[in-house]
Amino acid sequence: MPTSWPDPDEQKGVINLPALLGAPLVTNALALVTKTVSPAILAYPLSLRVDTNGKTQYSSDAAAVTNCYWPSGNPHCTTPAQVLPYLQPDVASCIQPNVLGLNYDDGPSSTVQNGGNASTQDLAVQLATMNQNATFFVTGASTYYNPQVLKDLYTAGHEISVHSWSHAPMTSLTNQEIVAEIKYTEALIYSIIGRKPRYFRAPYGDVDDRVRAIAGALGYENVLWGQDKDSGDSEGAPTEAAVVAQFTSWNKPQPGFIDLEHSLDVNSNTWAIAVLKYFQAQKAAGTMALTLMPVGQCQGKSAYVDLTGAALPNPPPQPMTVTRVVPGATATGKPSGPGAASAAPAATPAAAAASGPSNSGARVQTGAGAVVAALAAALLA
Ligand SMILES: [Zn+2]
Repeated sequence: MPTSWPDPDEQKGVINLPALLGAPLVTNALALVTKTVSPAILAYPLSLRVDTNGKTQYSSDAAAVTNCYWPSGNPHCTTPAQVLPYLQPDVASCIQPNVLGLNYDDGPSSTVQNGGNASTQDLAVQLATMNQNATFFVTGASTYYNPQVLKDLYTAGHEISVHSWSHAPMTSLTNQEIVAEIKYTEALIYSIIGRKPRYFRAPYGDVDDRVRAIAGALGYENVLWGQDKDSGDSEGAPTEAAVVAQFTSWNKPQPGFIDLEHSLDVNSNTWAIAVLKYFQAQKAAGTMALTLMPVGQCQGKSAYVDLTGAALPNPPPQPMTVTRVVPGATATGKPSGPGAASAAPAATPAAAAASGPSNSGARVQTGAGAVVAALAAALLA
């Protein structure tokens, strides 16, 4: 377990403090990656991050094709030219026909955090009403604020998977930063539920073979979503009617698929609940063409990799005691951690979803800065 955690304010950007990148959690994992992955792949040029919505500019159109850069392909490139043990095709479909691999990105959020309005907790209530499980691709940042929500999701039988710490586009990060994004999130999840996830989804679907290989060397399978299977809940100016209509159009016999949907701010959770109520009504009417299940289940695999022997980290400390490192400020040295963080005063989430011309997966924005400000005040108090 790390002794320090990255700042949970995503606005602070990627994990780049030397104290965090130099921790054994990262250096040991990077050594494994370097030992496993071809140097040529690790030397692929970084993309350029061109806006705060995750849009990136790849080094060249030719390299995008050669390196199987997912966002620019039409159809998306999901299979590396050379498949290796650590470089596998993306997971974007379900094995059985007429199955929807139900999943939600970017959470968990709490109802307190969302100003008393819809949150991941409310979505979980609706799922429970339907006796339905799903996969949650969580960020370290969101989890840091809501460890109990994560634990409750896991206890309820939902699958917990990794979605990076700071929600940065992975191809714009160095190898070391990609490792840090995955490992800190993995460590935080492990500290709360005691399991190491099997699945990783890169924010914005921003992967090339370098990102796939690094995640693969760390034991992850890379999950994306099917061609044209973005619910649209984070694109442009979505509405509940439009999101439900998207799922309505998918409710027909077809090959099994994995979709893209979110569970972070009030809008995304409200719409996700509306979609579930639509499916609930279809079931009641006998017109449900799809079977909903979590991603791991739709792959016929456990969503977790059991750690054994020397690879087994220390058991989760109860309660966790960590020192929070804030860029540009001296760490307080005071005990902190997810438990303390979740007790921070509620933030006011921005209702608007992110928009932009970039490919699907644009981020639903929240008022994370407000939470951090309150958290910092509480820590310094
Ligand atoms: Zn996301």
